[in-house]
This record gives sequence, C-alpha cells and structure tokens, in this order.
Amino acid sequence: MLISERMNGLNPYVPGEQPKDRPYIKLNANENPYPPSKKVIKAVNKFIKKNPEKLGLYPDPDSIELHEEIADMLNKTGGCLCRAKVSGKSIEPAAEDKIPFTVTKDMIYTGNGSDEVLSFVFYAFFSSNKKFVMPEHTYSFYPVYAGFYNIPMDRIPLKKDWTLDTESMLSHASENAGGIIFANPNAPTGLGLTRNQVREMLQKASKDEIFIVDEAYCDFGGESCIPLLAEFSNLVIVRTFSKSLCGAGMRLGFIVSNPELINTVTTVKNSVNHFPLDAVSQVAGKEACRDAAYYCDCAKKVAETRDDFYNFLVQKGFYAIPSQTNFIFAKKEGFAGEQIYRKIKEEGILIRHFKTPGIDDFVRITVGTPEQMAKLKEAINKL
Ligand SMILES: *Cc1c(COP(=O)(O)O)cnc(C)c1O
Repeated sequence: MLISERMNGLNPYVPGEQPKDRPYIKLNANENPYPPSKKVIKAVNKFIKKNPEKLGLYPDPDSIELHEEIADMLNKTGGCLCRAKVSGKSIEPAAEDKIPFTVTKDMIYTGNGSDEVLSFVFYAFFSSNKKFVMPEHTYSFYPVYAGFYNIPMDRIPLKKDWTLDTESMLSHASENAGGIIFANPNAPTGLGLTRNQVREMLQKASKDEIFIVDEAYCDFGGESCIPLLAEFSNLVIVRTFSKSLCGAGMRLGFIVSNPELINTVTTVKNSVNHFPLDAVSQVAGKEACRDAAYYCDCAKKVAETRDDFYNFLVQKGFYAIPSQTNFIFAKKEGFAGEQIYRKIKEEGILIRHFKTPGIDDFVRITVGTPEQMAKLKEAINKL
C-alpha cells in the first residue's frame, strides 16, 4: 500500500480562498489591511543587504532576541494594543491591564505561525484517551489537529446569544479530565469573555488539566489573560503576529505561559523542526515589537472602522454580532450565507461563509480600510 492508514483520519483545514482571476478586495482571511511598520521593512532590507551570508546559515533556533522583544512589548502594552494608551512613541497599558509581574523571555515560545504553535500545543497537552473540551463553533483548525493527532473532542454548543457556555464547558471538562481550548475573543462570532470571566473558569477548573486560550484577536478590543499567568500554572496563551501585528505573510505565532510549559512545547518543536523561524522573520518580528505604538494605532483604526461598519449592517437590517475582533459575523433574513458571499464576490470583494450547520446563514467579514469598507457598503446596498 502506497499510503499509510493514518491518512484516512485527515480532514485538512480550508483557508480563505485566494483567486487570481481578477483583483479582489480580500476581506475573507482576517488579515490586517494595514502594512507592517516602515521600520520593519527597513530592518528587513538592512538585514539582507548587510548580512546576505546569513541567509545561507541556520537562524537562532531559540529565537532568543525575538523572545526578549515580545516579552518587552507585552510588558509595555499590558498585552492588548487597542486598550493601551499611545502618545507619540510611548505606550502605557490601561491601568486595569497592567501585568502584575514582568513577562520574561523564558515565558515565550515562538513558531511558524500560531497554526504551527497550536499543533505543537495539541501534541504536548492533549491525550488520545481523554476528550478535550472546545466550543462547537470556534477556530476550525482545532478539529483538524484533533484528527491529525487522533485526540477525541467534546464540542460544547454556544449559548443562544452566541457566547460560550462556560458552565457546560467546565462540567464537561471535569468529567473528561482532558483539558480545554477556546479562542478569546472567539471566532467566528467575535465575542469575548472578560479576564474576570476567564479567571472564574480557571478557579473552577482542575489545576491538573491544561487550559488554553487562543488570543489571536485580543488586540482589537478583547481583554488579555496574560495577567492571570500569575495565578494559574495550567494556563497557556497562544498569540499571533498575523492579525494585529500586520504580519500574516511572515508566519509568526507565539505562546505566553510559565517556563515549564514553554519547555514542554520546545521539546515538541525540537522533535519536529529545530528551526521553525527563519532569519528574516526573526528580524521582522523583533522590529515589529519595538514599534508597538504603530500597531496600537492600526488596531484602533480597525476597531473604529469595524464599529462604523457594524452600525451600517444593523441599519441595513442585518443581524450582526457586536465584535471585539477585526471581523464581523452577520446574517440577513431571507438570504443564505453562500448567497450573500456570491453576490459580494461578483462585485469584486471576497468575504467568508461556512457550510457548517448552525452558522451557514452567516458570513464573516474581515474589517478592511475605510475605503475598502465603503466599496463593500456599495455592494451590500445592491443586494
Ligand atoms: C488566524 C488565527 C490563527 C492562526 O494564525 P497564524 O499565526 O496565521 O497561523 C490562530 N487562531 C485563531 C483563532 C485565528 O483566527
């Protein structure tokens, strides 16, 4: 037999499409509409010009300088860009977001996009003989990894208002003893739990089971759970440069957790690929962290555009979920999600719809620039 039996269990993730038949406005993959900071571009150019030989050498396998810069950025911003105060180049976390300890480089792990990071997290912390708990509707890569590693899942339906059913998640978690994962704010709903709500969950959950919070969208208006690392040794927080740090093309994701759990994931990494981050991405990532003020401004612009677009949708008779992210999940009575998606695509704009039962009448719209959203509004007016 040419192909292993293992292959039968695979059910790969389907990313937002990237068709090339015409130039589309791409609002289907939750990318940031703003480019990386000019300082990042400059640093990358300089690195290649000055050290071309470094492209022929292995990069730092431990990405130590990058881990220092990430830790520094988190300490400066309080872990949430949208809520941080920026004046010129100086940044200060909102008083309530201040991290009550110093994040250090041994609390950071980085990988080739948070998708890879999540894959290692699944390998490291979930077991093939215990069900882990996740929301029924959440990031659709989680079930893919569950299939890949043969880990049984326990998918808990959302409440009627689309929020997480934390009570039910906790009671199932205590039955299964296999850990919990969810995105906060959640995707594709855009709704988040407050840090206090997550704290209450952690207080009720077993300290012996892993508790993973995916904060891919936290910078656009959620609350980060990084401060909770002071209280809970079973907490793992996953973040990415792909959304708020305008870096989806660089493939940079990271974990913030205690050094012991960071070491565990590092062991997985070193058993798969010793060098997940290339030299150029490490340079770009470091420089991005040093220019957090720029990304704060971008996140705030996105949030403003989002709230304006939300109001537009409601005015147009859509049911839209108020979002704390860089996307909006919305539906319109009398339209199937796919129908809205197709009509909008005819106008040269890509948005996302899911065929998943329960959410198939929704579309997920990434928040672009005000100009892009103006074009989308025109397209929606024609529906
Ligand atoms: C986009 C996204 C990721 C993946 O990000 P990458 O770093 O680009 O791999 C992870 N989790 C959630 C919830 C996301 O939306």
